[in-house]
Amino acid sequence: MAKNRIQVLLIEDNPVHVKMLEQLLAESAAPGFDVHTAGRLSDGLDRIGTNGNVDVVLLDLILPDSEDLETFARVHAKAPNLPVVILTSLDDVNLAARAVELGAQDYLLKTKLDRAALGRSIRYSLERTRARSGEFDSAMFRLAQQQFLKAAQLMNLDDNMRQRLLFPQRTQIVTLPFWRDDHKMVENVFGYRVQHVLTMGPTKGGIRYHHDVNLGEVSALAMWMTWKCALMQLPFGGAKGGVRVDPTMLSKAELERLTRRYTAEIIGSIGPDKDIPAPDMGTDEQVMAWVMDTYSQQVGYAVPTMVTGKPIVLGGSLGRSEATGRGLVYVIKEAAKRNGSDLSNCTAVVQGFGNVGSNAVRFLGAEGARVLAVSDVAGGVYNKNGLNIDSLFAHFSENRTLNGCPESEPISNADLLELSCDVLAPCALQNQITAANADRITCRILAEGANGPTTLEADQILGERGIFVLPDILANAGGVTVSYFEWVQGTQNYTWSLEEINERLRQLLVGAFVRTLERARRQSIDMRTAALIEGVSRVTEAKQKRGIFP
Ligand code: NAD
Repeated sequence: MAKNRIQVLLIEDNPVHVKMLEQLLAESAAPGFDVHTAGRLSDGLDRIGTNGNVDVVLLDLILPDSEDLETFARVHAKAPNLPVVILTSLDDVNLAARAVELGAQDYLLKTKLDRAALGRSIRYSLERTRARSGEFDSAMFRLAQQQFLKAAQLMNLDDNMRQRLLFPQRTQIVTLPFWRDDHKMVENVFGYRVQHVLTMGPTKGGIRYHHDVNLGEVSALAMWMTWKCALMQLPFGGAKGGVRVDPTMLSKAELERLTRRYTAEIIGSIGPDKDIPAPDMGTDEQVMAWVMDTYSQQVGYAVPTMVTGKPIVLGGSLGRSEATGRGLVYVIKEAAKRNGSDLSNCTAVVQGFGNVGSNAVRFLGAEGARVLAVSDVAGGVYNKNGLNIDSLFAHFSENRTLNGCPESEPISNADLLELSCDVLAPCALQNQITAANADRITCRILAEGANGPTTLEADQILGERGIFVLPDILANAGGVTVSYFEWVQGTQNYTWSLEEINERLRQLLVGAFVRTLERARRQSIDMRTAALIEGVSRVTEAKQKRGIFP
């Protein structure tokens, strides 16, 4: 995937070494490296200075125009935050070690280089640099905080409360090792568990496996979970977890070892009455089964209620796996009805074809909507008259890609978002509708299946253009709501029928939709701010009633 490729600047004057390194990097597994070479330090510094498109530097310390530590010092002075890996020969190891003391991330012996060691050194250098610089500093956390501050201002929220809710109550950062399948390489990755508010009951939130996860992103997601649970009147505070890893690059056995170790690392802070994980991007019911098994092994008996979104045979709930997509369509239907239209006369476009997106497509199709386009990370497919949903699913289950779906033409993710339609449902990633494309979004209803797909600037533009936004904390709340049902069924040891579950889900979502819409109209504010105020007010009231300990 080109977007993840790492840009390596190789500053090395020996053509034999350049060739060897280029070859090793070209053979490396994903995410893959693009190598740019410079034979002189001055050329390397120019490259760092001009386009900034360098993620990491591989640096030989002895170059025609610079020698020894001076070489590193000049690179470091030019770009202090850019990770540098020193390439050294056996004679110069002490020099390389000195450069590491002065701020280089790592050094590698040219005589002992192999593909795995080189790739890992580069990836870990990037990881360490990122961990050191502003873990909390993420666009997503800034967005979550800005949204909260906007709501807080409109509510005249007491400043003590405002400060208290702006950051999560508890955060945990872990590093965890797991064996690769060859049992030679141990990978070390970063994991997180964040609990935003512990006032309302146990905390609740998914676990995300994605190569971009960091503390800020997980904190944003935890904060949104707090407002979402409160808006839905569920007895939970918000939490979220994540591991910075690309799960698509792991075998099933590797994924299992990673999951078990991550669970073991955070085991002190999770549990059926403490903090209850669930699936999110990159995780599924199998991952939840491993989480439950690891926890249960530690305490010595089965504890199904410590996790939701697990397989039905382990105490999972009917309807949980499709609940977010189903709930999204319940809310869209309600919004369309109030706009005087029926879903059977509507066109829809869905970004993302994972758990949320694929179920949204399925239920939109079942309501008679014409789905014009869908996409996943590799791109999308489009038919101006509507895709055939059955062939779409048949094609995807056979090929694991949307590309080449019958009676469709390809479309990029960017173009897909700008298609003219009644309902646009971003169900993949955050930060998709921004100031850069908001004035070209031409839907009537924007239904946020994903968390945080719209920036604050884009919200403003969409509002001015009269687009009706179903905000994430309302639109995708179906997942946590049926997770709650799963937890309740587990604690009662009593299961409900699918009809009961779907009907209760519909009632809770429509109730939250109506409360949000009424508040939006009453206060002349947008739906997102109204939903946030609903959530924040409930949490604030609970906090005030409990008071501050001691
Ligand atoms: P998933 O891993 O099942 O699917 C993610 C989908 O997004 C995949 O189709 C993937 O190919 C696609 N994708 C990834 N990167 C993309 C990109 N750059 N451009 C376009 N598509 C891309 O994840 P999911 O569980 O469906 O979650 C999707 C979103 O919904 C996330 O924001 C998640 O936080 C939110 N959400 C999920 C649930 C749930 O119950 N699973 C509940 C509430 C909210």
